[in-house]
Amino acid sequence: ETALVWFRRDLRVDDHAALFHALKRHRRVFCAFVLDTDILDPLPRADRRVAFILEALQVLDDDLGALAAGAGLIVRHGPARTEIPTLAAALGAGALYFNHDDEPDALRRDAEVGDTLRARGLQVNSFKDHVVFERSEVLTAVGKPYGVFTPYKNAWLRQVNPFFLSNYPVARYADRLARLPDALNAFRPTGPGRVTADFAPTPGRRVPTESDIGFEPVELPTLLAEGSRGAQRLFDDFLRRIDHYADRRDFPAEKGPSYLSTHLRFGTISIRQLAREAWARAQAGDPGSATWLSELIWRDFYHQVLHHHPRVVSHAFRPEYDRIAWASGPQADAEFEAWCQGRTGYPLVDAAMLQLNRTGYMHNRLRMVTASFLIKDLGIDWRRGEAYFAQQLLDFDLAANNGGWQWAASSGCDAQPYFRIFNPVNQSEKFDPEGAFIKRYLPQLSRLPPKLIHAPWLARPAELQACGVGLGRDYPLPIVRHETARMATMDRYAVVKDRG
Ligand code: FAD
Repeated sequence: ETALVWFRRDLRVDDHAALFHALKRHRRVFCAFVLDTDILDPLPRADRRVAFILEALQVLDDDLGALAAGAGLIVRHGPARTEIPTLAAALGAGALYFNHDDEPDALRRDAEVGDTLRARGLQVNSFKDHVVFERSEVLTAVGKPYGVFTPYKNAWLRQVNPFFLSNYPVARYADRLARLPDALNAFRPTGPGRVTADFAPTPGRRVPTESDIGFEPVELPTLLAEGSRGAQRLFDDFLRRIDHYADRRDFPAEKGPSYLSTHLRFGTISIRQLAREAWARAQAGDPGSATWLSELIWRDFYHQVLHHHPRVVSHAFRPEYDRIAWASGPQADAEFEAWCQGRTGYPLVDAAMLQLNRTGYMHNRLRMVTASFLIKDLGIDWRRGEAYFAQQLLDFDLAANNGGWQWAASSGCDAQPYFRIFNPVNQSEKFDPEGAFIKRYLPQLSRLPPKLIHAPWLARPAELQACGVGLGRDYPLPIVRHETARMATMDRYAVVKDRG
């Protein structure tokens, strides 16, 4: 009769697969989220993602209360592998419901929780929710996973129909959401065998603040405020400009993309809602929507790559690329640090890294440019860049981040060929022609005209002086010469050529 829904990367009530199925089948449904110390403990004490999650949980708690009086979110702080079984027992639940999370660590955790609960006689039910097509739903004619994006996309488009994109009408069964027992309403340790939480709650709050769980308060970009409510506002705003997406998406100074990636990562918006809208508009002939839908399909694509090839987490998708000898030692370490801090002397690369460090977001074009620069101009292992992005990105998603890095390293599934090497100056001239994006993050270059801003070291000293820029003083000299680096990269990658 009683079920427990475990929220993870699906922090919304609207269109939620596991919540819908639990409500449809059970008379009393509790909802819970675990601030999992297995994940939180290794993180730095100031982390924007923690702030984002806590705010999203507060909205989720309010929204559950709005669906049914007295309902709300139970928040726990501890290892999820033990917290969920303890909570299920305390609530007398006969079934656990959750949505799939296909990252290897999450699969291990879910298997452990599932085994514990099944051994106690509980039912364990999990659902697809995070992507439109998951795991082996889109396969080639001979039943193999796709290794190239375009045929995958074509198969995805052939397979999709309104059924896969339809909304789970959670509100229909909202009266089955259970009132929270008083003991849970405000968290207080309640003694052996009872439900406890090891954070001291702010009075009247079920959702802790950062300091309640040992984190420092961090300010969130306004764009990311208010969990699922903020996500709907962002999406409404994006729909007003989606028809320009194809023309504007590559120019970081413009408001081109949707900025929805963090919401997609934490499920504060439903992928079905986004894909449904984009698909309908694409079918009506809007090229902006068709291009955007392709990006959502890339997201499904990389998730299925991770599902079928979990070894990509630490290895090249193409094994021969693991033979490459990357730069190492003190000089490589210093160059890596310069890249992280935005001190390479290449203005577009540096502005992009400052965007990442300051906001937790980086524009897609710039992710490609900075990743390429680290790998093919500095010769540094893509895994070091991948790890840095994983630490800094609010939207960090293992499948997409790994896919993006392996694309740039040419080692991935349908990656760019290794001999295609981005020229960071040409990329800057093409995608930030006026230097408007650069100037936002590097105000010391704000007086440089477009012809000097992309490669200031090529300017005559008098020209720079007239603009108030002293290279090596206000802004670094380039740490590497692109042409020389390009040749070194071609040599480094020679090991991947078929040896016949
Ligand atoms: P939009 O252009 O509005 O796209 C809409 C959505 O489509 C995105 O929110 C995202 O969910 C999905 N999407 C778009 N491009 C891709 C792509 N290439 N691969 C997979 N999904 C995509 N995306 C992440 O969500 N998390 C990451 O950790 C991540 N790391 C990346 C690392 C590198 C090196 C590269 C090249 C790309 C990475 N991306 C990642 C993909 C992409 O850059 C971001 O999804 C995008 O910039 C997010 O901004 P947006 O929401 O405004 O995108």
